[in-house]
Amino acid sequence: MKVLVINSGSSSIKYKLFDMPKEHLVSKGLIEQIGEKGSRIRSHYTGLEAILRRINHVTVVGHRVVHGAERFQRPVLINESVIQKIKQCCPLAPLHNPANLAGILACKKLLPGIKQVAVFDTAFHQTLPDYAYIYGLPYKYYKRFGIRKYGFHGTSHEYVAHEASRILKKPFNKLKIITCHLGNGCSITAIDKGLSIDTSMGLTPLEGLIMGTRSGDIDPALVTFIMRKEKLNIAQIDNILNKSSGLMGISGISNDMRVLESRAKMQDKRAKLAIDIFIYRIKKYIGAYTTIMSGCDVLVFTAGIGEHQKRVREKICQGLFSHLKKEPKVLVIPTDEELMIARQAYKLIRG
Ligand code: ADP
Repeated sequence: MKVLVINSGSSSIKYKLFDMPKEHLVSKGLIEQIGEKGSRIRSHYTGLEAILRRINHVTVVGHRVVHGAERFQRPVLINESVIQKIKQCCPLAPLHNPANLAGILACKKLLPGIKQVAVFDTAFHQTLPDYAYIYGLPYKYYKRFGIRKYGFHGTSHEYVAHEASRILKKPFNKLKIITCHLGNGCSITAIDKGLSIDTSMGLTPLEGLIMGTRSGDIDPALVTFIMRKEKLNIAQIDNILNKSSGLMGISGISNDMRVLESRAKMQDKRAKLAIDIFIYRIKKYIGAYTTIMSGCDVLVFTAGIGEHQKRVREKICQGLFSHLKKEPKVLVIPTDEELMIARQAYKLIRG
């Protein structure tokens, strides 16, 4: 069975075609600059047309959908009602869900009769207990607007956690796992007995760890403080917190950890400070998650920094578990969100 996995962003579509259940990658590619000035690819529809010219024999399409809110706890077969519900989640992910939907609608037109499955970034974290996902705000905001922690990168956390259980030859639902997805976006998840019980991203991907350009956890009062001081509007403060904070904002140099490491070696103080803050925050989260699980059997690193930056991993692990009777195994596992989506789409179709 050929499963086409589509990751449709605002101006790009990434795809991978898998032969399942062999999990053989048949082809992959990327269409960029959709709708941009001077681009031949005017819409997601024309982008997808270009992809379909390169491949054939698609049996099922698996779509990455960023936000499923509380409506989606697991992957679903896409129909009209699912499309409407994904639309209803758009206010929670205004940059992502409309782009994901554009991919779904283009596939619907171009591949009539072919089953489509939606796999949500938030679904894996739907097992969080209420005391982990409710914020210390008036409860009415949860009831009225769905304001709560949702968490993201769920497909990646779930994938690497399953890989860890396979590598260690221990049942997934018997392990206490902490997964660190450290890319441009960074998040960390506590997985106890096979369930996500806490995760660092929140209502949006802004909460939690220091990221390439996102601030992660901050005192919420500083938002209005900076807005007043700098006379900023909502779009401007949103831009600062999401696009010019984190490693980029602290260092003033780059959001790329490779650049920062080389500058830190040359004694650049702000590059070193950015790395130190990045590592410190991760250690705090690992400490907290080890405590709420009463231990940790395995710590997994994944994504760009997690997979490739050994010195960062070493610094995170320094003295981290010295208080534990049994130190966890530390694994580096390359993530493959597309393969996870293909597995889930295949599983759903095969019933
Ligand atoms: P994204 O969240 O955009 O998918 P990645 O997972 O590609 O991000 O991670 C990007 C981060 O990983 C950057 O900070 C980069 O410096 C770091 N990194 C280190 N080594 C590599 C590598 N070999 N390839 C890609 N990213 C790397």
